[in-house]
Amino acid sequence: MIPFFIQKLFYYTWWKGRMKMCGCLFCKIAAREIATNFLYEDDLCLVFEDIHPQAPIHLLVIPKKHLTSLNDAEEEDRNLLGHLLGVAARMAKEKKIDGSGYRTIINTNAEAGQTVFHLHIHILGGRRLGWPPG
Ligand code: AMP
Ligand code: ZN
Repeated sequence: MIPFFIQKLFYYTWWKGRMKMCGCLFCKIAAREIATNFLYEDDLCLVFEDIHPQAPIHLLVIPKKHLTSLNDAEEEDRNLLGHLLGVAARMAKEKKIDGSGYRTIINTNAEAGQTVFHLHIHILGGRRLGWPPG
C-alpha cells in the first residue's frame, strides 16, 4: 500500500505536468507561472481581477481543476460548480456590490464569446448593466 502523502505527491506532479502540457492560460495563472494578484484562494478555486475590466468591478472566479468549459463539467463537478457560485456571492459582498447588484456570467464557446478555454465565472458590477446583453 502506497502511503497517502506519496499518492498526493504523485497526483500533484501528474496534475502540474498535465496543466503545463495543455498550455492553458488560467492553468498557468493557477500554477503561479503568470504573476497575478489573487483576491481569494482556497483548495478549489482562485479569484482575480479581469485584465480588461468591462465594469468598475470585474472579477474572475476559476476552478483550480482544468475544465474547458461548462460543457466539460460532469456529475462529479456538481459540488465544485456550487462552490464557485458561493465564492462569487462572497466576493460580491466583499466588494460591496451585493446590494446594488451584479452579474455572474459563464461564456461557453464561440457564439457566447468564450476566449479562454478554462471554465470561469465573470463577476461584473459597480455600474448599471444593460439587458439583454450584447
Ligand atoms: P471569456 O471571454 O469569457 O473567455 O473571458 C476571458 C477573460 O479573461 C476576458 O475577460 C479577459 O479579459 C480575461 N483575461 C485574459 N487574460 C487574463 C489575464 N492574464 N489576467 C486576467 N484576466 C485575463
Ligand atoms: Zn486550464
